[in-house]
Amino acid sequence: MRVRVLRTGGPGAQTLIGTTTQWIGLETASTESTETVLRGPVVVRLGSTSWSVIDANGLRAKVDAFEPFEMVSLSEDDRDLVVGKRVYPGRLRLVARGDESRDGFDVISLVPMETYLPGVVSAELFSHWLTPTRAAQAIAARSFAASEHAWFGGRREWDVTGTAHSQVYSGRVDHAQSHEAVEATRGVVLGYDGKLVPGYYSSCCGGTAARAIDAIGSSAVNDVPPLAGRAGEDVCIEAKIARWTIDRPLGQLTRRFAAWGRYRGRQDVTDLSEIAAIEVLRQNEHGRPTRYSVTDVAGQQVEMSAGHLRAAANFSGASLKEPRQRLWSSHVSVTIRKDTAGFAGRGFGHGVGMCQYGAETLARAGTDHLDILEWYYPGADIVKAY
Ligand SMILES: [Zn+2]
Repeated sequence: MRVRVLRTGGPGAQTLIGTTTQWIGLETASTESTETVLRGPVVVRLGSTSWSVIDANGLRAKVDAFEPFEMVSLSEDDRDLVVGKRVYPGRLRLVARGDESRDGFDVISLVPMETYLPGVVSAELFSHWLTPTRAAQAIAARSFAASEHAWFGGRREWDVTGTAHSQVYSGRVDHAQSHEAVEATRGVVLGYDGKLVPGYYSSCCGGTAARAIDAIGSSAVNDVPPLAGRAGEDVCIEAKIARWTIDRPLGQLTRRFAAWGRYRGRQDVTDLSEIAAIEVLRQNEHGRPTRYSVTDVAGQQVEMSAGHLRAAANFSGASLKEPRQRLWSSHVSVTIRKDTAGFAGRGFGHGVGMCQYGAETLARAGTDHLDILEWYYPGADIVKAY
């Protein structure tokens, strides 16, 4: 896997890599046979005309201009590399972003799938959650990661980020149950019709599943029965985040919509005057909204996908601070009274595939990991890929 673990920005961006007791090898495509040996920690900086890589003894490594390079620990007893506060197993690849104007660099952890997964499973679930939840999570996370790797392989330098945007990755972790869940399910993925199913999952569906083609993207890999959502109410409805309410001042909400419209090139949304109504326009077959209509006080009406509505309501930019409370999901019903928009929402996350709170509820009722996966990915095959 290629996991982007750090994205630096701004002129003179820099990071420290490795520890004081470590020897670190640096390789570029042109110097592969003559690796530079550096003493940790190494300061990596992106200058205006080239990289600057300086080790603890002041030795400056030779890297051509903005050529990508890789770092690997040479210390027998410590094969991991520290970046910031986290410890990563495997090699690191450093890539300058942009062409003419270099606006920062990415640090990408190159790590075997089975070494990567414990750092995902432990970060994605509470540490006391049960073994079947953890095993189901390992299979879903492996399926998601493998699918991203297959798609982005030749398209960009990394497959996934280490954040909730892909799936959270904490690097090297010391959580026995997460390691056991990964080992017990080694190589096992979700399949359908002989193809890999991207194992999307989210924190809490709020009781009603979303379809991948609505909430993630309308690609062919997403248009399969296991990603069309389970029928009937989910078991997560006792979770705290299954139901929530958030109030937004109407003026502020309208400004967020306008700013989002400028950002996304949706002039019709930017042109709305004060919002007067937000209504569900369409739902999926399970009753989860997929499209909303937004009407302003002048009677202008626009349509938005559920994901866009959530993004617009949460939008922050130059003059708009992060909202005090973000909408946790795009499953909302909105009541406008006087100068406030009241959002009554359900769940946390996109609602596609496995619901983590629901999976834990099933596990506590004695359900094994295979039945949990069948519940959330109906009709999926559980396949040992290697
Ligand atoms: Zn759920």
